[in-house]
Amino acid sequence: MKKTTTKQAFIPKMYCNLFGHDYQVTKKVTYHVKEYTCSHCKKQLTTSSNGSLIELTPKFKEINAILERIHNSRMERSKEKRIVSSIY
Ligand SMILES: [Zn+2]
Repeated sequence: MKKTTTKQAFIPKMYCNLFGHDYQVTKKVTYHVKEYTCSHCKKQLTTSSNGSLIELTPKFKEINAILERIHNSRMERSKEKRIVSSIY
């Protein structure tokens, strides 16, 4: 049982080693920060503060969740601003 599970996880990784990861955007955190997941091995990446791609660790997941909240509240505020400015 244990052997098969290891093998199953190993094959997609092998595939990625040979052909490279196939990252797909799974979440847009802000305009610049996105989360990516490899469709083969499920490895997750995110955009770091300097714009490069790094592994999505639980710590970065937390940071992204906070970023997303800030980003969304800013969006809400700018939407309100736009509505207000369109009235006046
Ligand atoms: Zn992969």
